[in-house]
Amino acid sequence: MDEQSMFFTSTIKIIELAKLIYSGHKSVEINKEIAPLLQMILAMEENILSVKSYISKLEEENKTKSQELVKFLKWEETEKQYELQEVAPGIRLQVKKEGIKPEETPYWACPKCWYDFIAVPLNKVHDDSYTVGYQCPRCEKRISWFTGKPFQYPDSGIV
Ligand SMILES: [Zn+2]
Repeated sequence: MDEQSMFFTSTIKIIELAKLIYSGHKSVEINKEIAPLLQMILAMEENILSVKSYISKLEEENKTKSQELVKFLKWEETEKQYELQEVAPGIRLQVKKEGIKPEETPYWACPKCWYDFIAVPLNKVHDDSYTVGYQCPRCEKRISWFTGKPFQYPDSGIV
């Protein structure tokens, strides 16, 4: 029985019960009518609880979706401040565009965190005559490449 027909049926039962009470029927007959009515009321209360629980779940989902939307809209603004550039042969990174306020040193964003919708500047952690390396302070991703510079012994003069 769906909720509407259960409500309709219980309303009719209540009216019949009221008629029994007012017409002076014996309490045995009235009690016989009360038991199924109470069962219907309990079933309806259970349905009401499950509907309230469902509404609460929908409200929580709506709140989460709203937060995701705000995050996405903020990310769109951040994304506009970067452009994909080849910073070294075969190394393409999101680079902060020049002139973006606030004025900061343009930086390269971690490509892994970029896909989590976070622009995290890479820190230079290694630089010698052969290679240069950067690391993300958030996810610790390392990116390094050969610089192509010829190695030079500082004192021997050997090139
Ligand atoms: Zn990262």
